[in-house]
Amino acid sequence: MSKKTIEFKTESKKLLDLMVHSIYTNKEIFLRELISNASDAIDKYHFNSLTEDNLEHRNDYEIYLDVDKKHRKLTISDNGIGMTYDELIDNIGTIAKSGTLDFLKNMKGKDLKNTDLIGQFGVGFYSAFMVSDKVEVVTKSPYSEKAYKWVSQGEEGFTIEETEKDSIGTEITLKIRKNHDDENYDEFLDDYKITELVKKYSNYVRYPITMEKEKEVPKLDDEGNEIEDKFETVIEKETLNQMTPIWEKNKSEVSDEELNDFYKTQYYDYNDPLLNIWTNVEGKLTYKSIIFIPGKAPQNLYSEKYEKGLELYAKGVFVMDKCKELVPDYLRFIKGLVVSPDLNLNISREILQKNTQLTKIQKNLEKKIIKRLEKLLDKERDQYIKFWKEFGVNIKYGIYDNFGINKDLLKDLILFETVNEDGYITLKEYVEKMPKDQKDIYYGSAASKTAIKASPQMDRLKSKGYDVLVLTDEIDEFMISILNEYEKHKFKSINQGDLDLVDEKEKETIKSLETENKDLLEKIKESLKGEVDDVKLSTRLTDSPVCLVSGEGVSFEMEKVMEQLPGDKSGHQKAKKILEINPQHDLFKAINHMYENHSEDLDDYASVLYNQALLIEGLKINDPVEFSNKMVKILVKASKTGE
Ligand code: ADP
Repeated sequence: MSKKTIEFKTESKKLLDLMVHSIYTNKEIFLRELISNASDAIDKYHFNSLTEDNLEHRNDYEIYLDVDKKHRKLTISDNGIGMTYDELIDNIGTIAKSGTLDFLKNMKGKDLKNTDLIGQFGVGFYSAFMVSDKVEVVTKSPYSEKAYKWVSQGEEGFTIEETEKDSIGTEITLKIRKNHDDENYDEFLDDYKITELVKKYSNYVRYPITMEKEKEVPKLDDEGNEIEDKFETVIEKETLNQMTPIWEKNKSEVSDEELNDFYKTQYYDYNDPLLNIWTNVEGKLTYKSIIFIPGKAPQNLYSEKYEKGLELYAKGVFVMDKCKELVPDYLRFIKGLVVSPDLNLNISREILQKNTQLTKIQKNLEKKIIKRLEKLLDKERDQYIKFWKEFGVNIKYGIYDNFGINKDLLKDLILFETVNEDGYITLKEYVEKMPKDQKDIYYGSAASKTAIKASPQMDRLKSKGYDVLVLTDEIDEFMISILNEYEKHKFKSINQGDLDLVDEKEKETIKSLETENKDLLEKIKESLKGEVDDVKLSTRLTDSPVCLVSGEGVSFEMEKVMEQLPGDKSGHQKAKKILEINPQHDLFKAINHMYENHSEDLDDYASVLYNQALLIEGLKINDPVEFSNKMVKILVKASKTGE
């Protein structure tokens, strides 16, 4: 095969351009990226060798660094899985990771400094071009007869050709740029700097990262004794990283700081974790685990690209990076590892899914995490609120998911803002604070607490001193509908159905008023031409003239959420719209008057009132121009009659 020149795809070119012109100030992380690719490649080799007969079992895994100052070259070699011709083109020649590029382009300089974008979005390999103007990859895969050489100077494209390589693995050589202006590249050719970077970023990589170093040692005489003041230079291979797995130590020997550092390097985070949970279980099933709850939710937590999972080690040997069977969906944000001597090394991914030991570990860890969160809520409220702000939505999802199977486990972890309280409260606290005559737990859905506070539906609840939970997340009402009740108290939406807030006597009064005004209510409904399902006199309003509520079942907020879901919407249930009118309000009296006098203005009033109710509810009005015209007409008329 002769040498081929291939152009980069458009996205790759753009990304490369960004790298070459180095928008990212933290250039030194290129080494971490390449070492972590090398470590991944060794993982892959190792994993495959467990299940494939024709791959030799090995125990000489190594990542080898070589500095050639004279030719300004830095080489990172590994004896991992290597790449075939196609893999070289697909993996390194193309950046197909959609989203990454858009994201990078939209970031401002300041944010770039603070965010570990390159780690998060996996543009890893390309970071080599931040420090290097020519990158050469020589690689041999066990699945290919031949070895290949890939060379690129950034910009346009790369060449690829056959080459000789004795052993399986990959060798990446960077031609380090020359210093210019205040940009120092020489440091990446300095043994000490490289050692420092490895310790800083790659200390816990589980394979030895080695480098040959010149050392001054005392000269020996023929009998092997040191000669005073005489030294000679020898070259020694040194392992730069610490490797000793942190979980092999006793928990008491590991300081919080060490554990935080471990978390940060291992899981590419700039922030300390919020908490760690260290478990050591011995018995029928023996395992150790260290779980971290991050301090901040990763930016891609809710994207498809995010993979949940814990690192899995069996008999001290690394098995895989993201074992998702260990993490229930709603705890997808946790990081950490599980080590168990009981697990068989020869586990393939298919077997993992059915592995009962893993399921047991998962269940135990889940319980442990929830216990720990309960303790945090109980003892360190501020920290728990921090957790809640970052990850609360996941807990809500956990309640809703799987038809509520976990709701009892999780219901006391939910925090709510409420209309009466300044901070957050739990359901337990809400119930404890309920006035004696309050039976139900009230909640309102809107974009904000202020909107709920101001909504007409609050009128009577306010006067009774009942507190109202404020729901603002999309998932909230779905979660509430799954919870259904808390300690026998039903949940009631202030925007929905019958609130049952008045006593029997008042009910009777409203009922008879309704019978009395049956024709008027019917007439308003008619004039709204099918816009509402019903028009009623309200028991929940005291000061406001009207409000819109939904019937039992689907609420307005749920309807909005379901509208946003992809796919066919024809089967979705709609919220039932009920217009409620306050019989005590002067406006009702005015309408009543119009009706009795057969006034033609009644239609306009009905329409304006309905549209107002829609607006208060945060719903769209059908025809804003018509609404505004009608308002003007009413105002002009009122000003003329001096009413
Ligand atoms: P990521 O590591 O996030 O997938 P990179 O751009 O760093 O993104 O690497 C792209 C791909 O190139 C990797 O997924 C891997 O398949 C391949 N690759 C990179 N470095 C090596 C290596 N040293 N050995 C084998 N494959 C590698």
